[in-house]
Amino acid sequence: MRFLILSDVHANLTALEAALSESKGKWEKAVCLGDVVGYGPDPNEVVERIRNLGAVTIRGNHDKVGSGLTSAEDFNPVARAAAMWTRERLRPENRTYLEQLPLGPVSVDGFSMVHGAIHDEDEYVVAPAQALESLLEAPSQITFFGHTHLQGGFSLDPDNQLSSLRLRPADGQKFAKLDIKKGTNYLLNPGSVGQPRDGDSRAAFAIADTNTNEVEFWRVTYDVEAVQQRMEKAGLPEPLIMRLSFGR
Ligand code: ZN
Repeated sequence: MRFLILSDVHANLTALEAALSESKGKWEKAVCLGDVVGYGPDPNEVVERIRNLGAVTIRGNHDKVGSGLTSAEDFNPVARAAAMWTRERLRPENRTYLEQLPLGPVSVDGFSMVHGAIHDEDEYVVAPAQALESLLEAPSQITFFGHTHLQGGFSLDPDNQLSSLRLRPADGQKFAKLDIKKGTNYLLNPGSVGQPRDGDSRAAFAIADTNTNEVEFWRVTYDVEAVQQRMEKAGLPEPLIMRLSFGR
């Protein structure tokens, strides 16, 4: 089966629509690795779009804080301001949806989904040593994770060789393809749809084919300025508006 893998949409409807339009007809089922809301200007629209896709979705830290499930005290001032703005605007049914999202890991068709790490949904898996823990604990050969907003991942082969995988498509290229090898375990990040932080401002997502064992890591341009204008109008913090231009 072909899956659309979304993560860290962060209330950016324009980026989500660009990803959906680019991937149209290429997948049968959608999943989302959390952080549906937070930072961006369209929390209700994005929650409703994700719900209407019927995406299997797990919660992220911003979904917990935005819905009021946890407090924003661990957030930096900018993230906190955006989370409070989100909390005030979420319609009750959308807030309830976010509140009830399950904690990862969740298994779908032989792969696992987590927001941060296998054992800690709030951990940022950036270094290979952190990835190793999740690779060893994973209940499946492939685990998709988010939270870092960095498209890429890690693998552990049958000889216990741990590798960092560079999976971002080059400029001008739409996607980079990974062939899943038998006996190797993978921890893969589709990247962030709504707030990339790997120096590439394009919206990121992945498409995984569980029959052919191929995963494609996509990037698509979207109208960043339109989103920035809505953020400006909403009075969201300036650093959050600026960073979308650079993908940082
Ligand atoms: Zn996030």
